[in-house]
Amino acid sequence: MQDIELYKRMLGITAPWVVSDVQLELKQRTVTIVVGYDHSIPVACPVCGGQATVYDHQQRKWRHLDTMQLKTIIECEVPRARCEEHGVKQLPVAWAETNARFTAMFEALVIGWLKETSISGVAELLALSWDEVAGIQERAVNRGLARRKKQPLEHIGVDEASFQKRHEYVTVILDRHRDVVLEVLDDRKADTLEQWLRARPIHHLTSVQTVTMDMWDPFILAVKNSIPDAEQKICFDRYHVAQHFGKALDKVRAQEHRQLVAVEGESPLTGTKYEWQKNASRLDNRSRRDFMALSRMNLKTARAWRIKETAAEVWNYSDRSVAEKAWQRLLAWIARCRLELVKKVGKMLRRYLRGVLNAIMARVSNAMLEAKNSRIQWVKKMACGFRNRKRFRMAILFHLGGLNLMPKSLKNSAFAST
Ligand SMILES: [Zn+2]
Repeated sequence: MQDIELYKRMLGITAPWVVSDVQLELKQRTVTIVVGYDHSIPVACPVCGGQATVYDHQQRKWRHLDTMQLKTIIECEVPRARCEEHGVKQLPVAWAETNARFTAMFEALVIGWLKETSISGVAELLALSWDEVAGIQERAVNRGLARRKKQPLEHIGVDEASFQKRHEYVTVILDRHRDVVLEVLDDRKADTLEQWLRARPIHHLTSVQTVTMDMWDPFILAVKNSIPDAEQKICFDRYHVAQHFGKALDKVRAQEHRQLVAVEGESPLTGTKYEWQKNASRLDNRSRRDFMALSRMNLKTARAWRIKETAAEVWNYSDRSVAEKAWQRLLAWIARCRLELVKKVGKMLRRYLRGVLNAIMARVSNAMLEAKNSRIQWVKKMACGFRNRKRFRMAILFHLGGLNLMPKSLKNSAFAST
């Protein structure tokens, strides 16, 4: 039949596989391509490659890329080979990975779409179930992780990320040097991070030069317990420090605003939340003029804002003792500022100053941390939240793990060359 030849060429089916039938079901808009094993070619054991005998056959089906606008299924009675040494094993097929229910090309298509849209979006687009698409994503991530070479770590970051509900967190471990997420751990406890670090060979830890993180005791403890000379390597970066000042400022503003409204019936702080948070230099001229007038008013919020702005400036030093003096001056000012919420941040920084100075000396840049953080927010938004930690981990590693996700049969088989 002509279409047997056509499908043989289109799918790139080569020996020992042959297309034996093409079954068209127009009502279901489905075409099934029946592939068989050419039994004039002896079977080899998939484990050792040695001579084997055909034990039996197993019926398998794979969804393939649509052909001519028809849902396309490959069906095959796959021989199981029997080897004296390795027993009975199913022969690998050229078009799909072992145990997959989709051809490698189909999985590659799904992986490509998943880069752009959510699991439910891809499911709808390709008429698959949510679980089928999630399964392809999970296999892709596991494949990528298995291929990833474990290398000595140099510059890493540890950060928390919340998923779905506000107070549920995971720990995200970043390789700042290679710009990828290495792993996502189930919680943000010291033990969990320590276990992950200790599972690596010791020379992967002695090679670490910086560990960037927030001032979060469980992370600090885990790093101190597992990385040699951690005291010199822990960096509390500008991004996280700025977040603390930003949060304190916002609370001061909210409190003061409520108080003003209660006492005077109105407040100059109305609608100014985001202006205080923005970097003053990013405001346009007109709102900048208004804002500057506001910032000169005798307001607690303005005081908290001046401290936040100053704290954002004390990061560019090449001399540790000069940097330390600048920070001591800032911390002394904060200690006198009569704003309890800001003083709390000051006290924390005094306690952790060593790590701040480490960050300044190591010239740890914020760019990667901030970029990864906003990408994680994007992953969350696209998925409209996650059912559980496992799904969140899969999605983060899929998008930010820098993994080689594609099925391997694509590379080596003639099937891929069509
Ligand atoms: Zn064998």
